Amino acid sequence: MRILVVEDEAKVAAALKEGLEADHYEVVVSATGEDGFFRVNAETFDLIVLDLMLPGRDGIEILSTLRRRGVGTPVLILTARDAVEDRVLGLDSGADDYLVKPFAFPELLARIRALVRRGRPDQILRLKAADLEMDLISRRVTRGSRSIELTSREFDLLEYLLRHHQQLVSREMLARDVWKEPSRATPLDNVIDVHIARLRKKVDQDVATKLIHTVRGVGFVLREGEP
Ligand code: CA
Repeated sequence: MRILVVEDEAKVAAALKEGLEADHYEVVVSATGEDGFFRVNAETFDLIVLDLMLPGRDGIEILSTLRRRGVGTPVLILTARDAVEDRVLGLDSGADDYLVKPFAFPELLARIRALVRRGRPDQILRLKAADLEMDLISRRVTRGSRSIELTSREFDLLEYLLRHHQQLVSREMLARDVWKEPSRATPLDNVIDVHIARLRKKVDQDVATKLIHTVRGVGFVLREGEP
């Protein structure tokens, strides 16, 4: 789950990034409206957290332009301005929700979850294999009654394996789809293997039914029992 944070105050941006990453979101920060606008056009995000008071192009201007161009990504506005007209202007410009600064972080997280849920009504929200369960909204992973703490990359990797349940996944597929390396100019094999090893430790250690298997010379498969 990728979130773009458009915020010019470095301290606020750093706090947002840290807090959201702790909740396992992948976070990209833009310090200016121009950069934010450029990134939204060049990359894919699941949600945008947009500060209204930005130097240069302000949040409202960016938001209206994005909506005019048909960009439907959910937008949560952050604003220090508590005036009713600012909030109304934000919502009228196409924001899905807003939060007035200063705000409590748990509230921000709850609103983000609600927006993401609303944004993908027909999509699968939970993935499951044996007693391993992944909730794509709360980003919680459990094996039986045990909760598993994953880094953002490990989460994406496990999500990919779960989406390809019982299918062979090659290192090329992981490099392209999880690491987003368009070509294999820089082989990621070692990096991928290290991440798989860590993930396997978290998922399969001390459990009778192993789920993550290596298929020698080919790649990996997530399935119950030996491949
Ligand atoms: Ca600002």
